[in-house]
Amino acid sequence: MKHSTIALHPASCTSCMLCVRECPDWCITIEAHSQPDPDAPEYSNSRRQATKNVLDSFAIDFGECMWCGICIDVCPFDALYWADTDMPAGQSRSELIYSIDALAASLPSARRNDGTSAPQINEPPSGRRKK
Ligand code: SF4
Ligand code: SF4
Repeated sequence: MKHSTIALHPASCTSCMLCVRECPDWCITIEAHSQPDPDAPEYSNSRRQATKNVLDSFAIDFGECMWCGICIDVCPFDALYWADTDMPAGQSRSELIYSIDALAASLPSARRNDGTSAPQINEPPSGRRKK
């Protein structure tokens, strides 16, 4: 499949860190915090409030990335995609580190491995991937 970069759908990312752990080049950096989840179901026997992870930052260092696609394949929540966006030429090292906004900007051309379009920035998460 033709591709030039990797796209992130931020609302789909649960900060599970699987892509960070599996990336062979250690070029993904994520920061997140946990906060109470008002949408979680309430159980009569629960002893503490349910929480959810909130993504604070997500960066891929394309100066280190070797385009193996492992991060896309392992993401259980359909948050990472191949995209056809051209990376800017002649950039400095710091410009090769793409943050959430830059990764999300590639969503319009992003595709799943089966060729279907990725959700766009204003669309809800597509959910946990069925294996
Ligand atoms: S495609 Fe790049 S960021 Fe993703 S796992 Fe491979 S080396 Fe890491
Ligand atoms: S594997 Fe997917 S859901 Fe988990 S942190 Fe990476 S992009 Fe987010």
